Amino acid sequence: MPRPRCPRRIRGNPESAYFKPRGIPLIDLDEIILTIDEFEAIRLADFEGLYQEGAAEKMQISRQTFGRIVESAHKKIADVLVNGKALRIEGGIIKMASERKFKCYDCGHEWQVPHGTGRPNVCPKCGSKNIHRSEDDRGHARGNRQGGGSGQGRRGCGGMSRGDSGGDSGRGPGRGRGGV
Ligand SMILES: [Zn+2]
Repeated sequence: MPRPRCPRRIRGNPESAYFKPRGIPLIDLDEIILTIDEFEAIRLADFEGLYQEGAAEKMQISRQTFGRIVESAHKKIADVLVNGKALRIEGGIIKMASERKFKCYDCGHEWQVPHGTGRPNVCPKCGSKNIHRSEDDRGHARGNRQGGGSGQGRRGCGGMSRGDSGGDSGRGPGRGRGGV
């Protein structure tokens, strides 16, 4: 196993999480798993055409780490194309750049709170305390929990406490689930 890695910031989930060659049953296919951080590296470097420096900055990782991720992603995608394998996109150690969504069960108002700012106490519209994490928001957090062993990676990540993320970052999904 590689050493624990720090969560990478990504923009959102890929549109589609599974690709396979047409006409071949899944059971006959080898499957390659592209982690979500690898997907994001491809999106930034190859699709948006960013330089590695800029892309690494967006993911809040070093240029060296970005280079390693994007190289690994290229190898996997090449393997898929050359050998006709199936490709699944999931997991990896990621931190969603998106915000946490809350919903008021009294008035139906939905709003977002940036990660690291704590759970709101009342609905900003009607003042009700009957508020909960929005369901579709929890779905988006799935990548965090599937990232086998992602919990181990949190300890050594001093870089996580920078700027906008605050000390709460990374623990968001777990804490949110317990608190509602
Ligand atoms: Zn309300």
